[in-house]
Amino acid sequence: MLQSNGQKKFQRTIEDFTCEHCGEFVKGTGYTNHCPKCLWSKHVDKNPGDRAEACCGMMEPTRLEGTTPHYRIVHRCVRCKMKRKNDIAKNDSNEAIIALATKAAHTRM
Ligand SMILES: [Zn+2]
Ligand SMILES: [Zn+2]
Repeated sequence: MLQSNGQKKFQRTIEDFTCEHCGEFVKGTGYTNHCPKCLWSKHVDKNPGDRAEACCGMMEPTRLEGTTPHYRIVHRCVRCKMKRKNDIAKNDSNEAIIALATKAAHTRM
């Protein structure tokens, strides 16, 4: 089947979004996949950036991984429990990152 007028775009899209966890308005950079304020993400990608995932569950930041300055956030989908690691972005809130590190230190997963 040929899709002549389907106009499906598979390019990276730069999109703004409103965080469904804390309500923060997030300016998209094309790489943004989590909220810089509360670090929550959303399960929308099968592969990074493709937005092909139908789950759309919220993804909770569960812990930090790695060492300075290459930290990654381990996200877990609250709906399907899938885990994914995401690099910390430059504009992520330091407070949120520290809070996550502190929380992780007290919660053995
Ligand atoms: Zn948020
Ligand atoms: Zn999911």
